Amino acid sequence: MYLASVIVDVSARALDRAFFYRVPHELSSVQVGCAVSVDFGNRPVVAYVVGLQELSEDDIIADGGDPAKIKPLAGVLSTPYFDASAVELIRWISREYLCPLTSALHLFTPPGGAPKIKRVDGEWKLVHPGVGPVDDRWVFPTAAAAQFVPAKTAAKQRAVLDALAEGGMRVAELTVELGSVNATLKALEKRGVVRLESRRRIRFAMEQSRRPDVELDQLTEGQAGALEAVDAAVAGRDAAHGNVVVMDGITGSGKTEVYLRAISYALERGKGAIVLVPEISLTPQTVGRFRARFGDDVAVLHSRLSVGERFDQWDLVRQGEAHVVVGTRSALFAPIANLGLVIIDEEHEGSYKQDSAPRYSARDVALKMCEIRKAALVLGSATPSIDTLASCEGGANPFRSWRHVVLPERPNRRPLPPVDVVDMGREFSNGSRSMFSKTLVDALMGVHERGEKAVLLLNKRGFASFVLCRECGFVPTCPDCAVSLTYHERDNCLACHHCDHVEPVPPRCPRCGSPYLRKFGTGTERVEAELRQIVPDDMPIVRMDADSTKGKGAHERLLEQFRESEGGILLGTQMIAKGLDFPDVTLVGVINADTTLKLPDFRAGERTYQLLEQVSGRAGRGDKPGHVVVQTYWPEHPAIRAAAAHDRGLFLEEELPLRQELLYPPYARLANVLVWGKREQPVRKVATELALAIGSALISAGYEWTLLGPSPCLLGKLRGYFRWHILIKAPVNADISSILSPLLAKRKKSAEDVRVAVDVDPFDLF
Ligand code: ADP
Ligand code: ZN
Ligand code: ZN
Repeated sequence: MYLASVIVDVSARALDRAFFYRVPHELSSVQVGCAVSVDFGNRPVVAYVVGLQELSEDDIIADGGDPAKIKPLAGVLSTPYFDASAVELIRWISREYLCPLTSALHLFTPPGGAPKIKRVDGEWKLVHPGVGPVDDRWVFPTAAAAQFVPAKTAAKQRAVLDALAEGGMRVAELTVELGSVNATLKALEKRGVVRLESRRRIRFAMEQSRRPDVELDQLTEGQAGALEAVDAAVAGRDAAHGNVVVMDGITGSGKTEVYLRAISYALERGKGAIVLVPEISLTPQTVGRFRARFGDDVAVLHSRLSVGERFDQWDLVRQGEAHVVVGTRSALFAPIANLGLVIIDEEHEGSYKQDSAPRYSARDVALKMCEIRKAALVLGSATPSIDTLASCEGGANPFRSWRHVVLPERPNRRPLPPVDVVDMGREFSNGSRSMFSKTLVDALMGVHERGEKAVLLLNKRGFASFVLCRECGFVPTCPDCAVSLTYHERDNCLACHHCDHVEPVPPRCPRCGSPYLRKFGTGTERVEAELRQIVPDDMPIVRMDADSTKGKGAHERLLEQFRESEGGILLGTQMIAKGLDFPDVTLVGVINADTTLKLPDFRAGERTYQLLEQVSGRAGRGDKPGHVVVQTYWPEHPAIRAAAAHDRGLFLEEELPLRQELLYPPYARLANVLVWGKREQPVRKVATELALAIGSALISAGYEWTLLGPSPCLLGKLRGYFRWHILIKAPVNADISSILSPLLAKRKKSAEDVRVAVDVDPFDLF
């Protein structure tokens, strides 16, 4: 009996496994990855084929099945969306991130949401929500057109034929030029002068992004070494490192050029490539560089494209028309054949971790994908994450030894800009109440005089409130967790969200006795207003934040405005820190380096260091040298000192022992169990029960993992839901799922509708 195992696209825990269906003879061409319809409670539902096999009736009976009860597939609805390697990955994702098979599977279905089944003209068909392919009507002149002479009165026919003199056109385009042409086209078609045809339209709004390619004479030594390492991995010659290459290159060291060449090599070997970039750096400039090199062989996938555009780009890949995909996180699941290379640029970015279910990390899924598909993985960054560095040869993670290549200098030999650290606590005690230090103001004036440009970063990441002494920079921290305490306005208290420590807000700074204890945080607009009063009137200020970049294309427009202005300031939030390449920016100012530093998160220091190093890299990329001014209340913090010296080692020296002592990554694996519901009491109850259950499961398994909580989340109430969490700290190679999966599967749906989710390897713990 020829059987298909399918995953039924119905979200119910009991159905979250593969089911057998018989493949009837007329459907025997069905393949793994096809959407099919199966009968389910007397109505057809969509299912996906995840396996095909020949089994004898005896085998089925021996397996405890009943051949007579196996139903046939009702129909095949699509050509394959994915292959067998994806099935392996779907199973892995579902297990690793404790999510249903269906939600892992949906990562591989076309953009726009999982297809639905609908009755169209008496037949069950697959419908893509809101999208699907669209056709255009085209009109082409036939061979007879040259001889044809329209009647004197038929002016429109003449106009149409004139317009078609150079070849076919879309009817829509012709209509724009000539007004309604339908009747005319019909008449001409009747005479055999034109031919009408439907053609698939490829929607893509970024077409204009193609720009001329740059020819580089010679790679730097670092680039050549990196390229060699990547190519070895693509060719499968670097199994010792798991075919993973960490490309650790300072900002502007030419990593992108290495990516481009490595992709060329992969294409020459007949292999495809996927390049992931963070949303914010996926600008027309970035896309343009890839399109300049590979033309239409590049498909682009990200959320700023319309669903229709994304569908078409995805389909181009599936049809084998494009062999390179450039996109954000979910582009990893594009149906590229014969994958040779996955590149994750700015691999340290938090946006590679999805913060809703399935809570996967694109970096870790890519690692598994490359292992299954025998492809190479490149992790590029000027500031690789501590986790990634730990996985390199000789790093803290004993289970991995990725290849680590370094690009220590820029092609033009321009050094990284010098950094001035300004102690804002001292400025404040000297009487200044401005958010701009004298150093920064002087530097801005210099930029104005020389007609250069400046980038100012307002560090606004996070939403956490904390208390800060404006005199000495003191921030109260938890005595047990080494993270700063969060200010809870309602109760006027400070609480730790890792444990249950709570204390009242002190009336005076416990360190220096100053009464100037403040909540920190300012809006971009306020900063702009203050800046306006400081700098000369003729100095343009372009403000870039969540508000000013809302509309489609607003982001690019503002950057273009800054690019074209003669001198001026680009003032913005985190979104300006990366990828910008303006040669005439000579000053970078960081208004408040501390906000991220004081976030109650064990990665606060790491993220601050990365942000400062990245934003510093925006200065002095052209011929003129750059200069960076960092304002902080915490000048002695290792993250600040390291960024100021462009010396990652300074930071790691202090950070790694702390992480080790407190059992944080890379010395442990975390899982954050989230519990939420409308009423707090049942949430607390479920969280407590769950913590006890996890505790006893650990004891029976003989695991000595650490359990923290249950305690309220930092965001204790979000959109009307009370949130609690339990933090698990396990050894780096721990199989967290093996403990949590059975517990979650056993959990009955409570009457109070309390929900539970697990965030494995969380990026943050909010
Ligand atoms: P990164 O991706 O590391 O920030 P890019 O690839 O964007 O760096 O390179 C920075 C700049 O240096 C770009 O303008 C690029 O065209 C140029 N560049 C890269 N490699 C070379 C090279 N070998 N010789 C000269 N210029 C180069
Ligand atoms: Zn103080
Ligand atoms: Zn604590």
